[in-house]
Amino acid sequence: MSSPVRAFKPFPIVIDSGEGCRITDIDGNEYVDLCMAYGPLIAGHACPRVNKAVRDQTRNGSVFGAPSHPETMLIEKIVSTVPSAEMCRMTVSGTEATMHAIRLARGYTGKNGIVKLNGGFHGAHNTVLVAAGSGSVGCTPSSLGVPPDDARNTYVVEYNDAGMFESLLDGNEDIAGIIMEPVMGNVGVVTPKKGYLEEMRKITREHGVLLIFDEVITGFRLSAKSAQGRYGVTPDLTTMGKIIGGGYPAGAFMGRRDIMEMVAPNGPVYAAGTFAGNPISATAGLETINLMAEKGRYESLEKKTQDLVSRMRDALADSGVRGCIQSVASMFSVFFGVDEVTDGLEAQKADRDMFAEMFDYMLHRGVYLPPGPMEVEFMSAAHDEEACDKIAETFEGFLRQVRK
Ligand SMILES: *Cc1c(COP(=O)(O)O)cnc(C)c1O
Repeated sequence: MSSPVRAFKPFPIVIDSGEGCRITDIDGNEYVDLCMAYGPLIAGHACPRVNKAVRDQTRNGSVFGAPSHPETMLIEKIVSTVPSAEMCRMTVSGTEATMHAIRLARGYTGKNGIVKLNGGFHGAHNTVLVAAGSGSVGCTPSSLGVPPDDARNTYVVEYNDAGMFESLLDGNEDIAGIIMEPVMGNVGVVTPKKGYLEEMRKITREHGVLLIFDEVITGFRLSAKSAQGRYGVTPDLTTMGKIIGGGYPAGAFMGRRDIMEMVAPNGPVYAAGTFAGNPISATAGLETINLMAEKGRYESLEKKTQDLVSRMRDALADSGVRGCIQSVASMFSVFFGVDEVTDGLEAQKADRDMFAEMFDYMLHRGVYLPPGPMEVEFMSAAHDEEACDKIAETFEGFLRQVRK
């Protein structure tokens, strides 16, 4: 395996092919896919339009080490649709996007401290591989190999608690910014309480620290204008990945012109990558974004998801099994043993064993979920009625056989 989140016992399935909302493993078993590669495939597996665009681009070459037309077109699209994006720089992954955005925030403000949310995931680099420290003293590494000095400059607060964030800022002069998912997507789906994102915007402005939205999942998923467009809150910097690569490796960081001008070669903050802005990825990303921008696409995807979610919620209520299903747009997640999850701390109280039982039950009946309880189920434009019925019926079947 190339990533630990793909692991499960007794062994993970190995995928042979994908088409639309279905994947087939190397033994020939077919599954309705709700993992969808953890988010990039909003247009579905092997989308014919994306495939054609990519095939056409491969004839022109795959990488140049110089600016290319697809990359410029994608950046123009991003800058013209994402509210915070006055300038945009491509990377190869979401991890690199957040790493560069954090370095930029530090370079711009001249400060070292970075705040993140408990349960927020921003990829696999030192600043964000931290375990919550005790409030104001900074964090300890969550992985061996991360120097404690790297983790010490990262602070953790809870989602949906603007007061906690503000008191941290009141007691610390060395904070460059906060990096946060506007909708949490790496502890399951956790949505902002009314006014929370606005409050975070106000506090960051008042304290002169940068607000960074990590929209690697929510970018071009929550709406054509991403989460920031949906909620009407514009951060200083934004990171993206997943969908903007249309199923190929890509990431980007973007934001206010005066901040982005600090990036090399215009300014003194370094950022680079051999495959950054790769024309194949940019082609696939642009085709995906253009496809989803067609009239009614986001609306019908959301309606399809919400219909499925309400069916599953009804089944959960009827079964008497304790739990909740949280959802926004085309993302949802099932939490057992809790009634509502509003932050990372509460997400940890959900019943993981019951989730593992559901995962197993669904897998053996042809529905592939992300293996971990802290992940999100992703729907795509390619999920059809038959797939939705299968998901709902299999979930109902699981609830019926749960030992109460
Ligand atoms: C997936 C993810 C990342 C990391 O992106 P990679 O392309 O896997 O490096 C960063 N932030 C969030 C919110 C993510 O979900």
